[in-house]
Amino acid sequence: MMNIISVSAPACKPLVNFQPVALTMETLFQHNQQRKDKVVVIMGATGTGKSKLAIDLATHFPPAEIVNSDKMQVYKGLDITTNKVTEEECRGVPHHLLGTVDDPNHDFTANDFCHHASVAIDSIVGRDGLPIIAGGSNSFIDALVNHDSMFRLRYECCFLWVDVSLPVLHSSLSARVDRMIEAGQLDEVREFFDYSVSDYTRGVRRAIGVPEFDEFLREEARGGDERRKKKLLEAAIAKTKVNNCKLATRQLQKIHRLYTIWKQNMHRLDATEAVFNKGAWEDDVASKGRRIVQKFLYG
Ligand code: ATP
Repeated sequence: MMNIISVSAPACKPLVNFQPVALTMETLFQHNQQRKDKVVVIMGATGTGKSKLAIDLATHFPPAEIVNSDKMQVYKGLDITTNKVTEEECRGVPHHLLGTVDDPNHDFTANDFCHHASVAIDSIVGRDGLPIIAGGSNSFIDALVNHDSMFRLRYECCFLWVDVSLPVLHSSLSARVDRMIEAGQLDEVREFFDYSVSDYTRGVRRAIGVPEFDEFLREEARGGDERRKKKLLEAAIAKTKVNNCKLATRQLQKIHRLYTIWKQNMHRLDATEAVFNKGAWEDDVASKGRRIVQKFLYG
């Protein structure tokens, strides 16, 4: 529902040619255009390089701070499984809403995101910094930008969409799962695992790479035979790969839908080549991103 604010003439001072005006939130927003603070939003499917671009841009446009919009990375723990940036990768750029929810069972909703992200963004702007929102949970970004009227009134957004062609992304996601396993994902999930719970519909338990290992971990706890455990482990890894690819496909579909709304302010950066050739990142993604943000901030 739109909020209507009626402006009427003061009783004591007759106005010549007075026309009653109905100011909607939308028109107030347009009137406030010049005074709006700027926010950069980085979108893209899982594994496309959003976090890397966010950090690149933050170091280029200081002081900038990053607000995480990945619904699984808001939780504490499971850092490998949810693919959080490491302290080294952060290069000193402050991150908000990254590993801040302690309770693994708490459902951190889009409303929670709107509230906490707004507080973080206000505080960044209060420090004269540039807020950069980055993460794959499009429902969170949609809620904040399209449905939070306070946000729309106060902020103007520039959207950067890091895109990788789906077949290329799918094979790179599979390789990423193998790297996560090598980096110790299984130990991380084993440590987190609660053998008394088999509900994977709540909190961080929903993260891809957790439910997939349920059967294997239970078999392991029962002291099952090696051949069966090996088979279950292989199946868990294969399922994690498939589910990551499905997630990427779904996220991309949502981005295409959001693109129809934001296309004027949304810029697609093709990171496909950069998947094979690390050198292409600078030309295809980072420098283009910097040019777009430079124009957005300074015209
Ligand atoms: P949906 O409405 O489908 O939940 P969304 O835009 O709110 O979509 P997504 O980021 O697409 O949120 O996450 C959907 C699901 O994908 C999560 O519930 C979780 O299972 C999985 N997921 C998302 N991000 C991660 C992550 N970083 N690590 C592991 N799994 C993730």
